[in-house]
Amino acid sequence: MAVTFNQPVPVEAIQERRITILGSTGSVGCNTVDLIRRRRDLYEVVALTANTDVDNLAKQARELQPALAVIADQDRYRDLKDALAGTGVKAAAGAKALVDAASLDADWVMAAIVGAAGLEATLAAVRRGGTVALANKECMVCAGDLMTAEVEKSGATLLPVDSEHSAIFQVFDFDNCDAVERIILTASGGPFLNFDYAAMEKVTPTQAVAHPNWDMGAKISVDSATMMNKGLELIEADYMFPVSAECIEILVHPQSVVHSMVAYKDGSVLAQMGVPDMRTPIAYALAWPRRMTAPVARLDLAEIGRLDFQSPDTGQFPALKLARAALTDGNGAPTVLNAANEVAVHGFLNGRVGFLDIARLVERTLELVPRKSLKTLADVFEADALARSETEKLIAES
Ligand code: NDP
Repeated sequence: MAVTFNQPVPVEAIQERRITILGSTGSVGCNTVDLIRRRRDLYEVVALTANTDVDNLAKQARELQPALAVIADQDRYRDLKDALAGTGVKAAAGAKALVDAASLDADWVMAAIVGAAGLEATLAAVRRGGTVALANKECMVCAGDLMTAEVEKSGATLLPVDSEHSAIFQVFDFDNCDAVERIILTASGGPFLNFDYAAMEKVTPTQAVAHPNWDMGAKISVDSATMMNKGLELIEADYMFPVSAECIEILVHPQSVVHSMVAYKDGSVLAQMGVPDMRTPIAYALAWPRRMTAPVARLDLAEIGRLDFQSPDTGQFPALKLARAALTDGNGAPTVLNAANEVAVHGFLNGRVGFLDIARLVERTLELVPRKSLKTLADVFEADALARSETEKLIAES
């Protein structure tokens, strides 16, 4: 089932917004804060959350004066409370406090926690029925059926933040879905696009997080390097847009200027372009259905000179194949894929496994964990936990 986009809210309703940022200290979170601080006349901040980064969270809270600042790591509560003493900002900690932050009355919630750790808070924001800007693609991958069902139930408006999905959203003719033939998700190919498969065996975390075009958090940077990121985006797109999975193509475009395209049955292909700066898709979601000025460099195509495209090589990047197969399999396979990938990427960043082991571990975990239809949040957590423990075991045995 794909998300149904609600009718645009009346223009007056978006003039001022009360905003919560889940994951405010991360890459997407900081970019969102950067846009908000430029329009304090329009945007009032309700809540900010982080995992462990008390310093940055407290700094943001002192500046933006939310009602609540939450640190997920309980052990950092005292530090946060001390850092916010005298500011009037309430401090809280723990998983339940994250959900409380997401449940506060806000018009617009940025879901930018990384990984399945953000699922409960994101679902809480969706259940409130306001506008949820979704950066956390892992939520959609591990619990897409639940997420879309909750969106339908609550009437929430789910807006894409991923640059590719924002691009598709901007050029997709929702009034003429039947006219859409294909979605073309573009992929930079990451830092190892021109490496042989064997040469990737020895690459380091430092090399893997050095994305050629985008400045992002460590986990998504590694996902871009394995191209699992595109696999996760394929699954996310399948849930977000009313097209079948076979009609979603992946196209490598190393310059990251064309952020994605929609092909129509009359032969037209509509693309959205821009410099690779997340503040553009975030600004689009923040001001939707209007547009706001974003402090990003302007696209100069004459300066860029050429745009290149090529088909992805699934032999070089097996994660792409695994993600497509998981989407086809359904029955919890995307949940298992996502959980195994999170554990494997963590293992790679900590030097416990090699770069090529990431896809191998995901593949092996998908073989080990039985398929099961996931009807409830408890089912999702169970599949997620089982996959994590299988991947951990595989790492321990290797
Ligand atoms: P970062 O790692 O930079 O930031 C993650 C944020 O989530 C931080 O605020 C972090 O807090 C918080 N966080 C991490 N773990 C937990 C946890 N267990 N519980 C609660 N909070 C947690 O990630 P990004 O900003 O790069 O990515 C965020 C999401 O957006 C990901 O799903 C990613 O795929 C997606 N995305 C990112 C893009 C980008 O340009 N970065 C582009 C498109 C999508 P702390 O700082 O304290 O660790």
